Amino acid sequence: MAQSLTAYNTFGIEASCDQLFRFQSEQDIQDWLAGLTIAADKFFVLGGGSNLLLLDHVPLTFLQADIQKISYQESGDEVTVTAGAGVNWHQLVLDSLDKGYAGLENLSLIPGNVGAAPIQNIGAYGVELEQRFISLSAVDLYSGERRVFTHEECQFGYRDSIFKGELRGRYIITEVTLRLYKKTQLVLTYGPLMNLSETTESLTAKDVSDEVIKIRQSKLPDPSKLGNAGSFFKNPVVSIEQYQELKTSFPDIVAYPVNNSHMKLAAGWLIDQCGLKGYRQGDAGVHQQQALVMVNHGNASGHDILKLAGHVRDTVLAEFGVRLEPEVWIIGQQDVF
Ligand SMILES: Cc1cc2nc3c(=O)[nH]c(=O)nc-3n(C[C@H](O)[C@H](O)[C@H](O)COP(=O)(O)OP(=O)(O)OC[C@H]3O[C@@H](n4cnc5c(N)ncnc54)[C@H](O)[C@@H]3O)c2cc1C
Repeated sequence: MAQSLTAYNTFGIEASCDQLFRFQSEQDIQDWLAGLTIAADKFFVLGGGSNLLLLDHVPLTFLQADIQKISYQESGDEVTVTAGAGVNWHQLVLDSLDKGYAGLENLSLIPGNVGAAPIQNIGAYGVELEQRFISLSAVDLYSGERRVFTHEECQFGYRDSIFKGELRGRYIITEVTLRLYKKTQLVLTYGPLMNLSETTESLTAKDVSDEVIKIRQSKLPDPSKLGNAGSFFKNPVVSIEQYQELKTSFPDIVAYPVNNSHMKLAAGWLIDQCGLKGYRQGDAGVHQQQALVMVNHGNASGHDILKLAGHVRDTVLAEFGVRLEPEVWIIGQQDVF
């Protein structure tokens, strides 16, 4: 019998999978794999479902590492924290701040679980996970063996890691170890946070977290009220030459330097300029304030959202010659997006 996934995706889309298995420890996963008859390519590893677009019935067995533990180790001014894959990311941020450790404050209120954080190298407000990352443990779904991945082995990039490329679908991450600080080292380079340093003396990491939460709550739709999976598309990276051509035609274009030869364009700006903010196709819509966020106004199906996203992508391509790539994982039977 199919397992409903409606409660397991923040789009709130009705979907299902063949089966769902949840594990409380690494050993549970290894024991289960040892007695297994299902081929590993029939698995999908689920976290908190906040970066997924599910299409109807997904003919796969879903696995979830519901490992709930957090431990800290102090060494001089530094602290390492190891958290189980099933710990809610924001709870880890709050727990570390409560203990007086800085480092994760800019990443406050990002939905999802710890185990998924390295997959796309989550980032927000000037900080990416990789800047705090030490290592992770994972179980190989093909062999059942445990493996520790160092920072270098994860091959982090912008919203990217080896787990989205070469090792896609191969490992279930069980715990993640990060570096935190006893002495506050605040990152206030992102626009709205810059104001903080001017207004507040002896600013703490908790103050920064509170501000990030405030900004996020005012800008992003709460998935429990309006189904969504955050940014649907990645900000496209283009060559300096292409950026300069675009800038000639669109002087207001919003972009950030990536390196000497590439610029990152604000995908939300591109979508907005196409007049698509608030655009709707039935219950599938582009968010009224955040053009980068596709939303489910009630009863949209996964295919409805996909059709809308295809329209957004094609419109931006026709207007700017820039192809948007999805940041969310589109899971299920589909035509190539
Ligand atoms: C309102 C909103 C705002 C958001 N803002 C941001 C933001 O600012 N920055 C940002 O980076 N992201 C953001 N996101 C996206 C999302 O929060 C992150 O991608 C998050 O890491 C997804 O976590 P999850 O547990 O929900 O993963 P899921 O959506 O369940 O899975 C995502 C991917 O990770 C894999 N995965 C999950 N757990 C494991 C595991 N234990 N082992 C191996 N693979 C695993 C899945 O197979 C899938 O490929 C936002 C999403 C929403 C809804």
